This record gives sequence, structure tokens and C-alpha cells, in this order.
Amino acid sequence: MVHFVGAGPGAKDLITLRGKELIEKADVIIYAGSLVNPELLDYAKEGCSIHDSSKLDIDEVLEIIKNAEKEGLTTVRLHTGDPSIYGAIREQMDLLDKDGISYDVTPGVSSFCGAAASLNLEYTLPGISQSVIITRMEGRTKVPEKESVEALAAHEATMVFFLSAGDSKRLSERLIAAGLTEDTPCAIVYKATWPDEKKVICSLKTLPEAASKEGITKTALIIVGKAVAQSGYEMSRLYAPEFTTEYRKGKNKDA
Ligand code: SAH
Repeated sequence: MVHFVGAGPGAKDLITLRGKELIEKADVIIYAGSLVNPELLDYAKEGCSIHDSSKLDIDEVLEIIKNAEKEGLTTVRLHTGDPSIYGAIREQMDLLDKDGISYDVTPGVSSFCGAAASLNLEYTLPGISQSVIITRMEGRTKVPEKESVEALAAHEATMVFFLSAGDSKRLSERLIAAGLTEDTPCAIVYKATWPDEKKVICSLKTLPEAASKEGITKTALIIVGKAVAQSGYEMSRLYAPEFTTEYRKGKNKDA
């Protein structure tokens, strides 16, 4: 059995209880060494066989899993954040299916949630934006044309860019060329929730300068949109005193 486990964004105590228990019981752990906090491996039992997948190709990962299966061992495949976001888990699942190896998934706290927490940020402010666009600039992996930076910017929703901090200058230029104003609020968060986390609030125009001043080129998220300013929003209806819900009777303000 293989358990895909979301390791969370970095801090050792931001893994789920289920994820931690699976690590404690695992005979074999394959973890993404480039991004997963190695302190999480402290939870592994003695004698657990631990492999860093950043040094392995997919065939080598599969080989380790198959050998474990032959011996009836349990494998944890530890992915950073939540495995469903840029986790390349589908291709692994398809290979496991071919070999009749069963698996399940334990979610994790994605880095975009970790970054919001570090900034005390609500992505979905009433009157500002009610959507979060999780996306990336293309790299070796292509992005469909309909999801280009320019196409998505047209929504003026809150945008979170993964895997794009290496070229914040290009990102800033493209978003401005797409029609977002130069003063659109932005944040760049490096290693959210890690002890060496760095976070900067800036504008679309000053984003490249802010990133280069802090020396941030990877392991960072770029958040763009008016929500980053955390002001000018409307109060939520849910907690409005006069609002009646299924759980609470609203107060009549005129009474
Ligand atoms: N599955 C992961 C994302 C993996 S893609 C998740 O849910 O977070 C790797 C990219 O995620 C990095 O290039 C960076 O853009 C982002 N990332 C991962 N961990 C991060 C962290 N702690 N702080 C900021 N960005 C992070």
C-alpha cells in the first residue's frame, strides 16, 4: 500500500494528524527533498528506509515502491503542501494502477494557505474578489493558452502564482501589459511557515525590485490583487447582526 501524504507548507507541525501517523507507521518514505521540511522525517520509526525523490526519476521511484510491495511493506510518498497542486501525483497513480498497487491520498495544507496565514490575509474579501486563481507562468510545463497570465488577469480576481518567482520581472510586465494597474497590491512570500520565511508586500510595479532585494528566486509564491491590501471591503452578510441564518435569528435593528 502506498500513501500519498501532503506534508504541508513547511512548519513541522503543519502536517495533518493522519499524515503524521502514516509517517510514524511507514516502512519506506519517499519525500520531495527539494521542498519538504526534513524535520518531518523525525516522525519516522527506527529502521524506516528513507529516499529523497529530488535525486530520483519516476522509474527509480516506482522501483523503490515495487520492491517495498514485494516485501509487504507500507510506503509513504511525501509531497510538499497538498499533493493535488502541482504534485505530479496522477502519473504516479497511473503507474501504480498498471502494477495493481493500491494507494490513497492524505491532503495537506497547501503553501498558498500557509502564505495567507503568514500575511494574515483573506483572499476572498466581499466587494473586492470572491475568487482565487491558482496558476503559474509556463516553464518546462506548458500552460494552456486560455489560462495565460493575460487571460486570467482579465478577471481582476485574487491570483496566486506558483513556480513563477524565478522571473518576477516578466510576470509583473505581463500583468501590467494585460491591463492591471502598476499600483495593484502584491505580496511575495518565500518559504511560507518555515523558520527562514521572508514576506514582502509591494505593488505590481515594485515586485521585481522587491524580489531581487530579498534575493528571492524560488520556493516562493507571488500573490496579486486588490485583496492583498486588505482594505475597502464590505462586511460579510454571514455575521451581520440583522441577518437571519439557519443557525441564528437576526436582530431587528429598528426594534
Ligand atoms: N503541492 C505544493 C506545490 C508544489 S509546486 C503546495 O500545495 O504548496 C512547488 C512550488 O510551490 C514552489 O515553486 C513555490 O512556488 C510553491 N511553494 C511550495 N512551498 C512553499 C512555501 N513554503 N512558501 C512559498 N511557496 C511555496
